Amino acid sequence: MSGGVLELRGVSKTYLDGSDEVHALREVDLVVEAGKMVAVMGPSGSGKSTLLTIAGALESATSGEVLVAGQPLSSMSRDDKSRLRRRAIGYVFQDFNLLPGLTAVENVALPLELDGTKAGKARAAGMRALEELGLADRASRFPDQLSGGERQRVAIARAIVGDHRLLLADEPTGALDSTNGEAVMRLILAACKRGMAAVVVTHDAQLASWADRVLFIRDGRVVDRTSPRPGPDSLLAEEPAR
Ligand code: ADP
Repeated sequence: MSGGVLELRGVSKTYLDGSDEVHALREVDLVVEAGKMVAVMGPSGSGKSTLLTIAGALESATSGEVLVAGQPLSSMSRDDKSRLRRRAIGYVFQDFNLLPGLTAVENVALPLELDGTKAGKARAAGMRALEELGLADRASRFPDQLSGGERQRVAIARAIVGDHRLLLADEPTGALDSTNGEAVMRLILAACKRGMAAVVVTHDAQLASWADRVLFIRDGRVVDRTSPRPGPDSLLAEEPAR
């Protein structure tokens, strides 16, 4: 596979608002390789959520091409796309989107079951994901019996269960205090270390500095790409310039 897990080539998205055209994304190019986390920052209305919904095959680009795992979305049928969404992509939205009538482990196992995994096996995978996130003892609770931080971790477990290649997270720490926010970033980073690619929208520069790259968007355009600030990992990884 050339390129990355996610590749956007000259992607634009125009919405019609009455008779007005809203240019939510303009000619965005982006490659996210396996094992990498890209943070996306930008003011409200700059196109961050649009970028995630297009990268996640939830909406189509107006022009340009999106490739997930090397496959152009434009060449896929509706069924191919929904299979890709279930199998390859994990989503974490700000409002968590947990189903209130299902327990934590049932919520996590649901995407696997929808994809044809037998209930017992899906549940076992769901339990493993919850264990990894320190939530084994919360598995049989319903979402309204969990704290905000716990609900968010369940949503992350659901996004990383199975062998998802790509994690798309819209303000995953938005509703959390700084301790829980950092814990969530650590979990996403751990998933990346196992080979997942992640795109994380955040307002928090501190949390964005955990990413391999930070992308700034303004008015639908990528205006800057910043390498991470030097941290312990980058000091170990990089040879000093000679
Ligand atoms: P952000 O996530 O950075 O706040 P969005 O991607 O939600 O920005 O929105 C980018 C622009 O596109 C905004 O001007 C927004 O009003 C517009 N937009 C987003 N979704 C729609 C839609 N479904 N219909 C019309 N305009 C939309």
